[in-house]
Amino acid sequence: MIHKDDQINQMCAAIDDAADDLVELTRQLIKIPTINPPAENYREICDLISARLTRSGFTCELVRAAGALGDSDRYPRWNIIARHEGKRSGQCIHFNSHTDVVAVGDGWTVDPFEGVVKEGKVYGRGACDMKGGLAASIIAAEKFIQTYPDYSGAIEISGTADEESGGFGGVAYLAEQGWFDPDRVQHVVIPEPLNKDRICLGHRGVLWTEIETYGHIAHGSMPFQGDCAVRHMGAVLEAIEQKLYPSLANKKTAMPVVPEQARQSTLNINSIHGGLAEPEEGYTGLPSPLVPDRCRMVLDRRFIIEEDIDEVREELQALLLEVGQSRKKFKATTKELFSVIPTMTDKDAPIVTAISDAIKSQLGKDPDYVVSPGTYDQKHIDRIGRLKNCIAYGPGILDLAHQPDEYVGIQDMVDSAKVMARSLVSLLTA
Ligand SMILES: [Zn+2]
Repeated sequence: MIHKDDQINQMCAAIDDAADDLVELTRQLIKIPTINPPAENYREICDLISARLTRSGFTCELVRAAGALGDSDRYPRWNIIARHEGKRSGQCIHFNSHTDVVAVGDGWTVDPFEGVVKEGKVYGRGACDMKGGLAASIIAAEKFIQTYPDYSGAIEISGTADEESGGFGGVAYLAEQGWFDPDRVQHVVIPEPLNKDRICLGHRGVLWTEIETYGHIAHGSMPFQGDCAVRHMGAVLEAIEQKLYPSLANKKTAMPVVPEQARQSTLNINSIHGGLAEPEEGYTGLPSPLVPDRCRMVLDRRFIIEEDIDEVREELQALLLEVGQSRKKFKATTKELFSVIPTMTDKDAPIVTAISDAIKSQLGKDPDYVVSPGTYDQKHIDRIGRLKNCIAYGPGILDLAHQPDEYVGIQDMVDSAKVMARSLVSLLTA
């Protein structure tokens, strides 16, 4: 009989030995440019993951989110779910990674889709967010299965679409189809780049609202004959400055959000448009003299677990009502564009304990518990899938996500793969 610790050490040594394989797999994933929007090459990346995991004994299913927001024949939303069954019944642990990446942007010093390796890092768009995390979870599962072929339960690995644009053609769709139902999946780890020693318990809430103010069009030389919608919006902005921002600064949360400045409610003025549309590039003429009759503004309000979404809605309505009371002919309407309820998994949930213990054993330190300022696919697993036992844990530095020269550290990937594999040992072997 092999001693328990020896077996874990053997598994970790196998992960060390697989470092080159881990790097190569990350590079292969980076080399498929899955830029979203518009959502390119989803099928190609699903095929790559499927080929790899089929070789490792997983049963792979490709699921197109037919009819989901954004899905079309030109840009089909493909997802892959791979499952490996243990020898006995038990719980299922699911590693969920999104396969899409954001646009490249300027400022790169390396080819963003070559998977350049230098100084112990793999560079590329999606390296840390989150192809490195996906590769680490694949290696972790493979080496666990090799070391513990008689394990109980099941392991799932998914590569899903569209996280960067809301996840509706990815995790939301799969959750609606029952893939995350609590009777088939009991633990979910999302290997987003939160650092190898941090456990992300959840995220703040979101409410996007478009406000429109109305005026009356007239000749710009006689503004008194019209009513300027931009001035009405200016009054809304002033009220936001004077009243809303100070009150949001006082709404502090007990959620351990990082960075710390996000440990409160926040508001971003996402965009504002009033009057004539911006002229097309190359147009050299003058604008026409008009009093704007419409102005639109999009607000991105992030709220904390201590707030109720209805209170957040009412706060804005009350502000508009107040502005209206001090202005003649003020008229504003609102349209809600998007909302997400905050979520935070319990610190003593089984998956948190498993990853926390694994971090202590592997890295010799206690994990930091964090909450993300923005949302990620946990929202769908929680709300549609009704599964609360979900965290984000993975290699890479969050600040590098979406930046030029994005990279993931090779040692970070190896260490987090060991942490993931150790958590499988504690949850799937008796
Ligand atoms: Zn991500």
